[in-house]
Amino acid sequence: MASVLDRLAPIVQDPYLPAREAKAKGTPVVAISPMHFPEELIHAAGALPVLLQESNEPVTEGFGHIYPFYCGFSRSNVDWAVKGKLGLFDAVVISDVCLQLRHMGHIMRRNMPRTPFLYIQWPLEASVDRWLSFSVDQLGRLRTKLEQITGNAITDDALQNSIALFNRHRDLLQRAYDIRQQKPGVLRAKDMVNVVLTGMVMPKEEHISLLEELIPELEKKGASSDSKVRLFTSGHLCQAVKTDILDLMEDLGGVVVGDDMYTGQRYFATQMPTDVPPMESMARRYLELKVPCPTRYDPKQEWGHYVSQASPQSGAKGLVTMVVKFCEPHMIYYPFLRDVLNGAGVPHLMIETEHEVVSLEGTRTRLQAFIEMLSA
Ligand code: SF4
Repeated sequence: MASVLDRLAPIVQDPYLPAREAKAKGTPVVAISPMHFPEELIHAAGALPVLLQESNEPVTEGFGHIYPFYCGFSRSNVDWAVKGKLGLFDAVVISDVCLQLRHMGHIMRRNMPRTPFLYIQWPLEASVDRWLSFSVDQLGRLRTKLEQITGNAITDDALQNSIALFNRHRDLLQRAYDIRQQKPGVLRAKDMVNVVLTGMVMPKEEHISLLEELIPELEKKGASSDSKVRLFTSGHLCQAVKTDILDLMEDLGGVVVGDDMYTGQRYFATQMPTDVPPMESMARRYLELKVPCPTRYDPKQEWGHYVSQASPQSGAKGLVTMVVKFCEPHMIYYPFLRDVLNGAGVPHLMIETEHEVVSLEGTRTRLQAFIEMLSA
């Protein structure tokens, strides 16, 4: 039988394939914008939650609808909405995490008049004491709307079952991530990203089965890159990093042993608590994210301090920050992050990534110099 990674490959190429298959079977499909909306709420309504992805296509028709200085994720999704390629979704949930995402949602809605758009305003301060009931209310409002759209009641029992299923999924992703850290090179960085990305768009039940096959395979394998320079990758808040950059890192003598990226630990690091009512559990997950996010203020921990500890703890000798071009929250935060990393003595390199296909020669030179410096 083909390997798990080979079976995931068609979905990496065509992330909405599982959504089309679900629709063909009569299952409603609800798209979610990054980053924090609880997929469990959609699953408990009997629908398939699908995280919106950035396409590899150049932005063409969308150019007339959204500023060129918006991030690739928002421009790409507007482009697909304008081209009529997102009509398979029964609804789209937009989380108000930044101006570009908010604007993206409004433009998509104008161009998808038959699709219901639901909005959630998350609190900007990650404080359970101050914002738990507000967050529960926000989720309750969307619960009612999702019930109307899918025609299915969302019961507390169904929510609890969904939370248990998704916690299991997060556990398995964490296990794969831990094995990669313990055995560098056992899973290339590109493959780790693709495993997480497919988990964002496939039915969790199917993805769990594949992970249950993949993990014993990884456990049996030995480390393949013990002599390489260990790296930690950070950033890329809303979209999968282009995997040729990760390949470049690993072909130039590096090996990725940890990350805090969206298609990485940011997606699965925080479990939902199971000892509180399900609506509270979903709200608490947002308010108690393990990986801090620069789209909100977290009085408990700063992203810079988090990453300056997580990188060396993973065994990495250096950190590569990947900033999506025009990503405001990340660009505004970056100077602080840089100062904290400098203060903590964590060697780091910043790379700006673009939606459009650009030559990687400049990136190659900088990565090569960084890896050579770390290995000296
Ligand atoms: S957080 Fe950054 S990458 Fe995500 S939508 Fe906003 S600007 Fe784009």
